[in-house]
Amino acid sequence: MDYAKILENIETSKTKFNKQSEVKLIAVSKNVTSKEVVNLYTQGQIEFGENRVQELNKKIGELQNYDIKWHFIGSLQSNKINQLIPLRPTLWQSCNSFKLACGVDKRLNYKLDTLLEINVANEDSKSGIEINRAVEEYLHIQEECKNLNMCGVMSIGAHSDDMSLVKKSFDDTYKIYEKLRPHGAKICSMGMSSDFELAIECGSNMIRLGTILFEDMK
Ligand SMILES: *Cc1c(COP(=O)(O)O)cnc(C)c1O
Repeated sequence: MDYAKILENIETSKTKFNKQSEVKLIAVSKNVTSKEVVNLYTQGQIEFGENRVQELNKKIGELQNYDIKWHFIGSLQSNKINQLIPLRPTLWQSCNSFKLACGVDKRLNYKLDTLLEINVANEDSKSGIEINRAVEEYLHIQEECKNLNMCGVMSIGAHSDDMSLVKKSFDDTYKIYEKLRPHGAKICSMGMSSDFELAIECGSNMIRLGTILFEDMK
């Protein structure tokens, strides 16, 4: 789908939740090269996401002349923490355990905006913190890890053709987000190519799109 059409669909979905809400689009460039990133950037897209530290490092190097904001959205292995930190991502969306949070926190020499990744689908293949522990873990990290600036939550919707299951996973994420709002949470990152419209209708204010954005470019 072209960029303008996607932006239009985001606007339409927003009106079904709350006209006033801002929904930020993050372009996930993990399966494309810097060339496609530049293509989208010239159309006005500023924020991009990568799920591997090495690839993030490579693209940052290649795209130094562009004022791009990079998000880290992948599972972070502890042996990659030292490589991620100097890249200074705009947002680390995938903090998925207290232990990992502490590992990053103790090495940071600046404040890193961070989201707690929740495993709302409770699928074994997905990383993230269980729903019923999410609020407690978030507050624990916020209390103990002073270099992590906890900004909200991220989840990956249930992988299912049954839209009611996908919706439930977004509703569950949103409920956790609401509980964390009094504690400073501002970002509810949910929605990917196959389900972003539903995610926005359920209250998402940050979506992460890869496939649908880049499919026509390759
Ligand atoms: C790949 C990825 C996306 C984008 O997925 P698409 O289905 O290609 O839009 C979003 N979030 C995360 C965490 C990802 O790894």
